[in-house]
Amino acid sequence: MKKLLVVLMVLTASFMLFASSYPEDVQVIADRGVLRVGVKSDVPGFGMLDVQTGEFEGMEIDLACKIAETLGISDVEFIPVTAATRGQLLDSGDIDMVIATFTITDERRLSWNFTTPYYTDAVSLLVKTNSGIETYEDLEGKRIGVSTGSTSKAALIAAAEENGVRLSDSSFREYATYPEIKAALDARRVDAFCVDGSILAGYLDPSTHILSSVRFAPQEYGIATKLSNTGLAAYLDDLITLWLGDGTIEALIEDNGVVASFTN
Ligand code: GLU
Repeated sequence: MKKLLVVLMVLTASFMLFASSYPEDVQVIADRGVLRVGVKSDVPGFGMLDVQTGEFEGMEIDLACKIAETLGISDVEFIPVTAATRGQLLDSGDIDMVIATFTITDERRLSWNFTTPYYTDAVSLLVKTNSGIETYEDLEGKRIGVSTGSTSKAALIAAAEENGVRLSDSSFREYATYPEIKAALDARRVDAFCVDGSILAGYLDPSTHILSSVRFAPQEYGIATKLSNTGLAAYLDDLITLWLGDGTIEALIEDNGVVASFTN
């Protein structure tokens, strides 16, 4: 009985310590009782909106729910973002964090905080199966669709150059959304759709395939926060580090059927 009392006292003390030790920018969210997260709505396995049910699903959705749980929050508001909108929504304070296939780069670190990466993807290309495009050489003189604000264009130019192929700015067409790039591919306005393999997987259909021989530029995904939210950034980084170590992240990846781009 005495032992049980001691255990209870220790548990209560650690709970109080934990509860009262949130950094200010984390406490604001806990007090609000709603976590607002920018997520993808069209990336299978990561962030996908089920139009029938209106529910979001994927490993990034589950990750957001787990973060909310640590704050005692059951209400998570998912706000769909694109590569072009996610940074602005963070800066304006409309969302608390972005968990949306957001690649960590040195340049982006100047604008936002990023956690330790929770997933690594690779960039690839989606082409029409009858296009004859299989290698970097086949891309010469072709038009490539990329998304505005993504890492894809610079990554492909660098990877092609390493493989002896020169691609210039004029090889690219930029679009605001991925469905627009797929529509351009279907209408033959572009010959290839370039972005992370995880994102391309959402646009595969019987007339297309993802190039298995063209995989480049590892994309490390981190949770991004507004630059001034340093307490929140540290809080999230601790969680990701913990969950990478104890198998939580691995389980989220498996449960959502995510298959690594580098090996499939
Ligand atoms: N992950 C890449 C990036 O952050 C591709 C774009 C995207 O995530 O939508 O630029």
